Amino acid sequence: MKKLKICHLYGNLLNTYGDVGNIMAFTHEAKKRGYEVETEIISLGDSFDEKKYDFVFFGGGQDYEQSIVQLDLKDKKNAIQRYIENSGLFLAICGGYQLLGKYYYDAYNNKIEGLNIFDHYTKNQEEGKRFTGNIRIRDSINGSIYNGFENHGGITYLGENQQPFGIVVEGNGNNGIDKTEGFRYKNTIGTYLHGPLLARNNELCNEFLNILER
Ligand code: GLN
Repeated sequence: MKKLKICHLYGNLLNTYGDVGNIMAFTHEAKKRGYEVETEIISLGDSFDEKKYDFVFFGGGQDYEQSIVQLDLKDKKNAIQRYIENSGLFLAICGGYQLLGKYYYDAYNNKIEGLNIFDHYTKNQEEGKRFTGNIRIRDSINGSIYNGFENHGGITYLGENQQPFGIVVEGNGNNGIDKTEGFRYKNTIGTYLHGPLLARNNELCNEFLNILER
């Protein structure tokens, strides 16, 4: 039987607003295509072996959990970077997306260091302000529309050479100003869309599986 192995990065710590639903949706569609699917949580103190996985999922979290994860990420940085450069399928939502970039200043203005694999950086909004609600975006490559739910205090700015995942049609996205939402690089997508994204947008879920089957 064909096998797929999923890594849920820090799945016991970063998993807000039903983000695990992305793994459930992906698993469901993969099984329909005849795959046997196994998911492994890789968390604090575990080593991340990039050669083992077909799909890596890095979900959202509260500031506190992000502050714990930042310390552990240093040990996994090189392997995560190799996975991404080797065109591995990688989805990072909200807190996970923030942690792929340079840094995130949390709601209390504490600096949380990111992996610094990508150039985006995240600041906080004025006290108590968050972007919360439904969001709709247009895929920056193929024009598909995706629906999700956003809830973030952080506002993210992309580096000069970063391509957004989508353009905001409704909602706030990266920062509420420049209409960009998330980023994409090779087969990595970072985005603020909870939902869960792959459950609400079946076409995208199947596009991910198509990438693996190409
Ligand atoms: N704690 C981060 C923020 O508030 C990420 C939130 C999340 O992952 N839902 O911006």
